[in-house]
Amino acid sequence: MSPYELLRPASLDEALELIAAPDFAGRPVSGSTAISLMRRAGVLNVDSLVSLEGLRASLNRIQVGDDGQARVDALATLGEMERHAALMRSHPVLAQVFVTLANPRVRNVAMIGGYLSHGDPHMDLPPVLSALDARVTARSVRGSREIPVDQLYQGYYETALAADELVTGLFIPRQPGCAYYKKVTTRARHDWPTLGIAAAFDMTGDRIGRARLFIGAATDRPKRLEQTEALVEGQPWSEALARKAAEAAVAEAPLVADNHGSMEYKQALLRAYLPEVFEQAMKTARPATRQA
Ligand SMILES: Cc1cc2nc3c(=O)[nH]c(=O)nc-3n(C[C@H](O)[C@H](O)[C@H](O)COP(=O)(O)OP(=O)(O)OC[C@H]3O[C@@H](n4cnc5c(N)ncnc54)[C@H](O)[C@@H]3O)c2cc1C
Repeated sequence: MSPYELLRPASLDEALELIAAPDFAGRPVSGSTAISLMRRAGVLNVDSLVSLEGLRASLNRIQVGDDGQARVDALATLGEMERHAALMRSHPVLAQVFVTLANPRVRNVAMIGGYLSHGDPHMDLPPVLSALDARVTARSVRGSREIPVDQLYQGYYETALAADELVTGLFIPRQPGCAYYKKVTTRARHDWPTLGIAAAFDMTGDRIGRARLFIGAATDRPKRLEQTEALVEGQPWSEALARKAAEAAVAEAPLVADNHGSMEYKQALLRAYLPEVFEQAMKTARPATRQA
C-alpha cells in the first residue's frame, strides 16, 4: 500500500472545504471497510484520506416521525440503524436485510453514507431503498441537493456524486403495506448476493396497488423492472400472474454474468424467486396508512 496523509476535519464545513480544494486527490472515508480493502488490493491509490470520524457526534442521528418517515444521518453505522427499535418497527424490511448483510463486525463500523457512496453493484440495500423510494442528501461547498437512491448509481462502482460532494443523510418514506427483499447467495446466507430482488407495494383489497420492483447484484447497478410492475399493478395475485411476472422480469432484466454465475443461471434464479418475493411481501401486509 502506498503511504497517504490522513486528514481529520473537525466540522462538516471543514471536510467539504478539504475535498473541494483544486489540488485534492484523495477520498473521504467513513467506516473504511470498503476503502481499506480497495487500497490493500491496489485498485485505489490516493495520496490523502479525509476521515469523517470526527464529525460523528453531530451527524449520526436516526429519527422516525409519527408518519412513518425516517431520516438517518450519514455517519450512523449500519449497526446503529439495525438496533434502532423505532426504525426497525417503521421499516421492517430493513431489519430483514440487516440480518444477512455482511457480519456484525462490518455493520458496527460501516456507515450509511459510506455504504451508499461505495457503488458496488452487489450491495443489498440499494435495491431495497430504491423500492422504498428513498433519497440521499449530498452536500458540497456549492450547496445541497437530494438524489433519489434509484438514480444514485450510474454503472459499476460509478455514482452520481460529484468529487466534491459528501452524502450527509438518507430520507426513507413510509414503508408501503407490503415489502420484501430476497437475497439469493450461492455460498453462506450472509455472503454477497448473486441476485437481490426487492418489492414494495400497497394492496387495495386483494389487488396489488402501485408497485416498485428492483433487482440488484446480477446487474451493473440496481435496476427497476417497470414492465413487470405494470403487469402486476391492479391485479389479484395468482399462479398464472406469478408465471407471467417471472417471464416479464427475465425478459426486461439486463442481467450480466460474473464470478457468481452465468447470465442463464441468473435468469433461472430470477424466474424461480420473483414469485416468492411477491408472495412473501403480501404476508408482511399491514395497514397502508399508519405505522405501528
Ligand atoms: C467482509 C465484508 C462483507 C460484506 N458483505 C456485504 C453484503 O453482504 N452486503 C452488502 O450490501 N455489503 C457488504 N459489504 C460492504 C460493506 O457494506 C461496505 O464495505 C460498507 O458499507 C462501506 O461503508 P464504509 O462506511 O466502511 O465506507 P468506506 O469504506 O469508508 O467508503 C466507501 C466509499 O464511499 C466513499 N465515501 C465514504 N463516506 C462518504 C460520504 N459520506 N460521502 C461520499 N462518499 C463517501 C469513500 O471515499 C469510498 O469510495 C461487505 C463488506 C465487507 C468488508
